[in-house]
Amino acid sequence: MIEHDIIVIGGGLSGLRAALEAKRNGADVAVISKVPPIRSHSVAAQGGINASIGPDDSWDSHAYDTVKGSDYLADQDTVEILCKEAPEIVYEMENWGTLFSRTEDGKIAQRPFGGAGFPRTCYAGDRTGHNLLHTMYEQVLRAGVRIYNEWMVTRLATDSNRCTGFVALNLLNSELESFRAKSIVIATGGYGRIYQRSTNSIINTGFGISLAYRAGVPIQDMEFVQFHPTTLWGTNILITEGVRGEGGYLYNKDHERFMDKYAPESMELAPRDIVARSIQTEIDEGWGFSGGYVQLDITHLGKELINERLSGIRQICIDFAGVDPIKEPIPVQPGHHYSMGGISSGKDGLTPLDGLYAIGECACISVHGANRLGGNSLLDTIVFGKRAGEHAANAVKSIAMPSEDSLNESLTEERSNIDSMMGDGGESFADVKDELRQTMQRYVGVYRNRGDLETGLANVKALEKRGENIHVKSRVNAFNMELMNVLEVKGMLDIARVITEGALVREESRGAHYRTDFLERDDEKWLKHTLAYLKDGNPKLEYKDVTITQFQPKRREY
Ligand SMILES: Cc1cc2nc3c(=O)[nH]c(=O)nc-3n(C[C@H](O)[C@H](O)[C@H](O)COP(=O)(O)OP(=O)(O)OC[C@H]3O[C@@H](n4cnc5c(N)ncnc54)[C@H](O)[C@@H]3O)c2cc1C
Repeated sequence: MIEHDIIVIGGGLSGLRAALEAKRNGADVAVISKVPPIRSHSVAAQGGINASIGPDDSWDSHAYDTVKGSDYLADQDTVEILCKEAPEIVYEMENWGTLFSRTEDGKIAQRPFGGAGFPRTCYAGDRTGHNLLHTMYEQVLRAGVRIYNEWMVTRLATDSNRCTGFVALNLLNSELESFRAKSIVIATGGYGRIYQRSTNSIINTGFGISLAYRAGVPIQDMEFVQFHPTTLWGTNILITEGVRGEGGYLYNKDHERFMDKYAPESMELAPRDIVARSIQTEIDEGWGFSGGYVQLDITHLGKELINERLSGIRQICIDFAGVDPIKEPIPVQPGHHYSMGGISSGKDGLTPLDGLYAIGECACISVHGANRLGGNSLLDTIVFGKRAGEHAANAVKSIAMPSEDSLNESLTEERSNIDSMMGDGGESFADVKDELRQTMQRYVGVYRNRGDLETGLANVKALEKRGENIHVKSRVNAFNMELMNVLEVKGMLDIARVITEGALVREESRGAHYRTDFLERDDEKWLKHTLAYLKDGNPKLEYKDVTITQFQPKRREY
């Protein structure tokens, strides 16, 4: 059994920030991660991180934009923390070595992003996540945090409403091991790969969310799934919102800048939910190009600006679509991008299970509500990662190490679970996964309605049944990818089920959840968060109030 005061599951920006802060506050802390930390998905973030450091900007203006962007579902007390702490977080990263892009007089440059009243997004070209994550990793190494690379956590252990640790699979040799800790922080990122078209990397299966759900923790607001308006047609690699922030135009096949029909004031810089729906409508109504896409044009920005601020995007377009955006428009279509919902947790990342924290994209601290503004997620990971690390370090000073019993029990259960999966017959994980991804894309996408959601739910339930009969045929010990996939696909099914049921029950349109059979937002009935608990193998939905402080809900117009 391996032991530390605090173990952080996940080596992305949120996990590393939590580990660093816990270590700085004197705890014995370790990070465990499926992939080496700098391969976490945070590295792929392109466009930037928001902070109100501009001369005319203010934290409450940032908070207002965030709450309005969230379609009033974000908790305003946590939004306040996010926006107040943003400038300090950005300057701290700068002081640690992040090379932000600069204005001519040497200040951190900021670009406009959708739904923001000011150019508020600080950026490092179009490789902001790369720069932030590498800086953070350097700090974690410098502080001497222990890192367990290439271990996959497969089950949390609990004892009388306390998380006591977890069981993990060493990917190098397929051995199971138990890890005991006074506090556990889940920072396992998003679940994009449950959709057929996603900007997320293959490792983003959302398994961490299902670990908590299976341990009895509620997951919150899962029906709010963000579709990014501009993903590269064909591969769905992200084309950052920074492209529109720098002045990119969207055109349909008749060369109309169609956004003036949908958001005449903000045009391409309306929030993501609105732009994604606008593009989808153009495609559905026959104004898209054959194959289902529209064009994102930056040719007018000029070679110099594109090479300086969007060089990564240019390279992606050349490598994956054979299109050079200096000379021709980029073909784009909406794709899954981000999870507004996640493990229900509070302003210090604490979940309802004692000793368990959740932060980053796997968590729902409720700063994004029904629709996240671009640039607020990187901020969320660092602000709440730091808070969770500090809180956990203080808490463990007065907590005893839990007994070994629950860990030993969990290890035995997980051994027998994995043994029961080995076999040559049964279903293939790949078939179940592919069908799940198609189902979610087709029936639980940008536009939703009762009929589609019911079909989607029936499909997910049928896949759950088939999921019980998936077997692992491979007997390889080193990096048994089939075993990993089989474990993860079951978690993907959990998440898909909760998203679909939550979406079916929520009879209104709010942010990214758009019902063609209930077109209006309905604050009277639905200004509330969804909580899903796992009860006897099914999600049980409950609701809780949204925290409103300074911004009363009103109609959202752009
Ligand atoms: C292409 C792209 C571009 C983006 N650009 C921006 C942007 O410009 N601005 C912005 O604000 N946001 C952006 N986002 C969103 C933002 O990057 C992510 O929400 C954020 O980085 C997530 O960080 P995280 O720490 O929560 O998780 P991640 O960085 O995804 O890290 C998850 C970690 O958990 C580990 N893990 C997962 N499961 C397990 C397990 N079972 N056992 C052990 N380890 C596990 C993984 O190995 C990984 O280390 C972008 C997202 C995408 C997809």
